[in-house]
Amino acid sequence: MEIRRICVCILCLGACLSLTACLGIQGRIEEYSNSFFAMDTYMTFTVYDDSARNAQAALKQAARRLGELEELWSVTDRNSDIYAVNHGGGQPVKVQEDTAGLLSFALKMAKETNGALEPTLYPVLTAWGFTTEVNQIPPADQISRLLQTVGYDRVMLAENSVTLEEGMMLDPGAVGKGYAGDEAEQILREFGITSALLDIGGNIQAVGAKPDGSDWRLGIRSPFGEGVLGVLRISDSAVVTSGNYERYFIGEDGVRYGHIIDPSTGYPVDNGLASVTIVAQEGKLCDALSTALFVMGEEQAVGYWKLRQDFDMLLVTESEEIYVTKGIKDRFDLRNEYKDMVVHEIS
Ligand code: ADP
Ligand code: MG
Repeated sequence: MEIRRICVCILCLGACLSLTACLGIQGRIEEYSNSFFAMDTYMTFTVYDDSARNAQAALKQAARRLGELEELWSVTDRNSDIYAVNHGGGQPVKVQEDTAGLLSFALKMAKETNGALEPTLYPVLTAWGFTTEVNQIPPADQISRLLQTVGYDRVMLAENSVTLEEGMMLDPGAVGKGYAGDEAEQILREFGITSALLDIGGNIQAVGAKPDGSDWRLGIRSPFGEGVLGVLRISDSAVVTSGNYERYFIGEDGVRYGHIIDPSTGYPVDNGLASVTIVAQEGKLCDALSTALFVMGEEQAVGYWKLRQDFDMLLVTESEEIYVTKGIKDRFDLRNEYKDMVVHEIS
């Protein structure tokens, strides 16, 4: 929470773009990075290249693209596509191709996850205060009333036009950053970058391997404290974690309420899972699935993986057990303080 506030301040001060780079000697691979604030979060893009000019141009272009997408997808900016759709009064609203692409992907994933990913949850999230940071426990009758405005299958998307019923509202928050990560990766690749690490507010997009050819070593946040649970060694993959340990509030009843909502109840997820990490080629798939599988819970998430098997995952339960798919089991090393956790292989 505190970090978010600091980030907002940085934005307000207009100091959101800092381009840092070493003076690269032509022919030698150097590290270049750019940190900025976008999509309500702090991002750092790091690329490795033998040309300072190329690296900086690539970083600038990727950050610009993120800014563009933010402008289209913000739920609060009156000029955004999503705002226009959410205030369309039941009429069709024309959107940019990027927005149509994002929505079509989100709706597809909503269907595939049986509504565990629910892009129309915005009214319910607002009632809980997760869109304004002024949190409260809404009365049960308000939740059930708002749930009537929720339903991905009632969103009409035809080419570049979106129609919502009156009262319905979209929140692309669970997939936007992942989708944007794929876009940023594509831009870097167009600049010939083959080694880069993108941190998109905790979503990681690893382009290729480290410059020496070895895997990136990524710390997976512990849902039980400030530190790292373990280290994952991967190349050429996105890694996205969802959990209720980062954005939550303690209600007047002393209960902890997280920001991921079970669309079937309208209440924050409370199913024994502490976090879900998804590893796959595409950031958008990781982002959609990390949220959806967190909603599903351990049993259903394992069932879903067994049907698809085209991604890897690491589930951490509140009872401090780990479920990890066979594809990344040997690539994940628990930190010493968590060595006693029981690890189950999913295969
Ligand atoms: P984060 O964006 O915090 O890294 P997620 O990708 O898991 O985490 O997205 C969570 C966000 O998605 C919430 O803050 C909320 O805006 C929205 N959301 C909450 N529950 C759901 C859900 N079941 N389906 C789709 N979006 C959700
Ligand atoms: Mg997500």
